[in-house]
Amino acid sequence: MSSDSTSESSTVATFDIRGFPAKCPCGTATTIFTSETVKNPGRPFYRCLTRRKHHLFKWVEEAVLEEVEDALPKIAQLEAEINKGKSDVEDLKGVITELMEEVVRTKTEVKRCQVMMKFAVVIICLITIVVLVNFM
Ligand SMILES: [Zn+2]
Repeated sequence: MSSDSTSESSTVATFDIRGFPAKCPCGTATTIFTSETVKNPGRPFYRCLTRRKHHLFKWVEEAVLEEVEDALPKIAQLEAEINKGKSDVEDLKGVITELMEEVVRTKTEVKRCQVMMKFAVVIICLITIVVLVNFM
């Protein structure tokens, strides 16, 4: 941060640039200076590096206020998106729980079918043996 002792009130020109002004409309970068005037001692401000009249001049606290004002709706939108995401996660947890229960039911059904298949094979074998013994 540099200091500047010029009379800032006669050079105020924000050009409706909201927030932190990276550049002056002339294309030159801005930097932060500190006012050393009696009216605004120690008050930081952005200014075009050319330091010419009718180039960018903006109080830092005004730029900060605009940044905050512009950020608040975005924060509210992000908060809504986060809440939607949390809701979606809860919904997906419910789906996962249902799928896990279905997997358990399916495994039980498969085991039951395997037991019945083994029993059927044993029965068929016994019938085959009985039939063969009767024909011998
Ligand atoms: Zn400029």
